[in-house]
Amino acid sequence: MKRFECGTLVPGCNWSTEAEDEAEVVRRAVEHLKMAHEEHAIRPNLVSEIKARIRDAKANAA
Ligand SMILES: [Zn+2]
Repeated sequence: MKRFECGTLVPGCNWSTEAEDEAEVVRRAVEHLKMAHEEHAIRPNLVSEIKARIRDAKANAA
């Protein structure tokens, strides 16, 4: 699992997401940033910044 916490990019935001694929995490993060933070122009740089902040999330569920 891959995990992205928006607070690492936008201080104060508690939103986070997890998905199996990094690409899916990026897709959800971009969608959130557009809707919640009014990122009108999705710059190539933004995707890089999201990817730089994605962490491995261990699934602890039995
Ligand atoms: Zn956010």
